[in-house]
Amino acid sequence: MTIRLASDLQPDSVVDGTGIRTVIWTQGCGHDCPGCHNPETHDFEGGWVIEVQDILEEIDELEAQTGVTFSGGDPFYQPDSCAVIAKYVHKKKMDVWCYTGFIYEDLLAMSKKNPAIMDFLKEIDILVDGPFIMAKHSYNLKFRGSSNQRIIDVKKSLKEKKVVIAMVDDVEIDFNRGRKKEGLYI
Ligand code: SF4
Repeated sequence: MTIRLASDLQPDSVVDGTGIRTVIWTQGCGHDCPGCHNPETHDFEGGWVIEVQDILEEIDELEAQTGVTFSGGDPFYQPDSCAVIAKYVHKKKMDVWCYTGFIYEDLLAMSKKNPAIMDFLKEIDILVDGPFIMAKHSYNLKFRGSSNQRIIDVKKSLKEKKVVIAMVDDVEIDFNRGRKKEGLYI
């Protein structure tokens, strides 16, 4: 199994979710949001292809990371490979965030035709969903570019069959106190 990436894994990020995170930049995105900061990640033939096994071995080598964030590009164009990696991240006792240009409800609908989408969703703790919308952009937003994007607690949302917004302010306050609960800094 392979995955197409836009860059090497990027450890030690503090802006792509709570805690100290390693970002996996996937290659390929069809949303074409005006004002996108990463247009070089859109080409589905761009970047390079790497064995998923190689990513798992890189994850083995990570030190002092609290989680892994999938970004891009849009990771949901490669849900099968991302699901395998995300499952391994959980096995290593780290949490999983994912950024997507799709909205959560559309992913649920798409998963009926492509079960890999649900496989990946089930391995995501926090999903930041929706396209970047320039008119709703603000530098004051935490962990997202525009106010339409939601920071979703995926496990609660799947369980309660409705979108449950994660309490990001609480997440950050608790992280600063160094308190960890259920594998997530919340
Ligand atoms: S979904 Fe993300 S990567 Fe894709 S065009 Fe929109 S902002 Fe850019």
